[in-house]
Amino acid sequence: MTLTDLRQQLTQGDTTPAKLIEDLSVRIQAKDGTTQAYVSYGSQAAGDIDLSKPLGGLPIGIKDNINTFGQPCTCGSKFLEKTYTSPYDATVITKLKEAGAIPFGRLNMDEFAMGSATENSAIQLTRNPHDPDRITGGSSGGSAAAVAAGTAFATLGSDTGGSIRQPASHCGVVGLKPTYGRVSRFGLVAFASSLDQIGPLTQTVDDAALILQAIAGYDSRDTTSLDVPVPDYSATINDGVKGLKLGIPAEYFGEGIHPGVRENVEKRIEHLRSLGAEIVPISMPHTKHAVATYYVIAPAEASSNLSRFDGIRYGNRADNAEDIIDVYHKSREAGFGPEVKRRIILGTYVLSSGYYDAYYSRAQKVRQLITRDFKQAFEKVDAIITPVAPTPARKIGSCAEDPLQDYLSDIFTIPANLAGVPAISVPCGTTAFDGAAALPVGIQILAPHLGEAMLLRVAKAAEQA
Ligand code: GLN
Repeated sequence: MTLTDLRQQLTQGDTTPAKLIEDLSVRIQAKDGTTQAYVSYGSQAAGDIDLSKPLGGLPIGIKDNINTFGQPCTCGSKFLEKTYTSPYDATVITKLKEAGAIPFGRLNMDEFAMGSATENSAIQLTRNPHDPDRITGGSSGGSAAAVAAGTAFATLGSDTGGSIRQPASHCGVVGLKPTYGRVSRFGLVAFASSLDQIGPLTQTVDDAALILQAIAGYDSRDTTSLDVPVPDYSATINDGVKGLKLGIPAEYFGEGIHPGVRENVEKRIEHLRSLGAEIVPISMPHTKHAVATYYVIAPAEASSNLSRFDGIRYGNRADNAEDIIDVYHKSREAGFGPEVKRRIILGTYVLSSGYYDAYYSRAQKVRQLITRDFKQAFEKVDAIITPVAPTPARKIGSCAEDPLQDYLSDIFTIPANLAGVPAISVPCGTTAFDGAAALPVGIQILAPHLGEAMLLRVAKAAEQA
C-alpha cells in the first residue's frame, strides 16, 4: 500500500501506527531472510503521534548512513558495526518526526556508500526481490529492495553519483535525488560532500513528493543548505506534460545501452509526446567525461571525509597497536573494506602535491563544463529524459574482478550530481536480460536547480503511462 493509501486508513481508524509496525515486522521476518535489506530494525519511540500531520503514523525505513538518535549506524562497514550508536538525529530524521513519521529500521548499503551493487557492504549481501541471483544496485540497495519487497512502505537513501536512482531502477521503484542543498546533509555520514544528497525511495511519485515535502528546507547546520522556500509539490504534480518541452540528449542513448532499456525508455518518451509534450533532441557534449571527473572528485573528498575514522574518535580501535600512529594504521587496515581503501588511496593521490593540478583542478574545470551543458539545455527545455542505467540488474558476483565495469554503469546518473540538479528514477517497464525473463527498467527525468515541482510533474505523467 502506498503512503497515500495508508494515510487514509490511519485517519479513518482502519489501522494504527502500532499495527503498521507489527505488520512490517511480520513481513520482514517472512521475507527479509532472502532479501537481506535490513541491517537491523526496531522502531524509535515515536512519542505522541499526531495522525493529522502529513506523514502522521507512517513508518519510514532509513539507509544505514543517516544518524538516528540511539540507533546503530553501520554505514555498511565493519569499522562502525557493533560499537557506534548515533548520539543525535540527522536533520532529515528530525523533520520526518516533526511530520509525524516513525523512522523504522536500518537499511543495508555499500560500505560508506561506495558502490553500485550493495555488494561492497561488509555486513551482508542484499538480493534483488525480482530475482535473488541479481544485485539490487547501490549504494542504497537495502532502501530500494525493502520497498520492492514490500518490507518497507517507503525509505530514505543517499545519492552521490546515482545511489538512490540506480537501485530504484534495478528494483522497480521510484527514487528521487533532490537539488544539491535542497535537503540538509546534517547527520548524513559524509562520502563526497559536494555531491551527497538525501532523498526518498517510494512506490509512487506521489509518495516521493510527500516525503520530499517533509524533508526539504533550509538548515543552518548545513552550510550548503539553500535558504529558499519549499513550494507545495502537490499543487502542480497533476498538471501533466501538455505544452512542456522535454529534451532528449543524444549522448545518453549511444553505445553500450541495452536494447531492452532503450526500447522501454523510448516507448515512454513516445507516450509523453502523445500526452502533448514536445520532444526536443538536445546535445550534452561533456557527458562522456562525467565518470572520469566523478572518480577524481568523489575519492578526493572521501579521502578527506574518511580521515575521521581513526580508531580514536570514530571507528573500532585495534587493540594490538604499539603507539598512536600504529593505532591509526591498524584500526584503518582492519576497519575499511577493499573498495573504501581503493577510494582513499585514489583520493589521496589526486590531491597530493604535484598531481593536484593535473587531476583535481582539472576535474573541477570539467565539472563546470558539465554544469554548463545542463544550463544551456535548460534554456531550451523544461526537463530532460534519459535512461537511469545502461543495463538492468546484473548477476551477483559478475563484476568481482573488475570494479571499473561498475564505475561505468553510473554514466547516466553521475552528471546530475556533478551539476547539482534534481533527478528522479521512475519504473518504465521490464526487459529480458542475461538469462532473466523480466527485469525492471527505469526512466530518468532531470530538471533545473530547485525544479523539483517540474520534475515531479513530468515524473507523474511518465509513471501513469
Ligand atoms: N556508484 C557510485 C560510487 O560508487 C555512486 C555511489 C553513491 O551515489 N553513493 O561512488
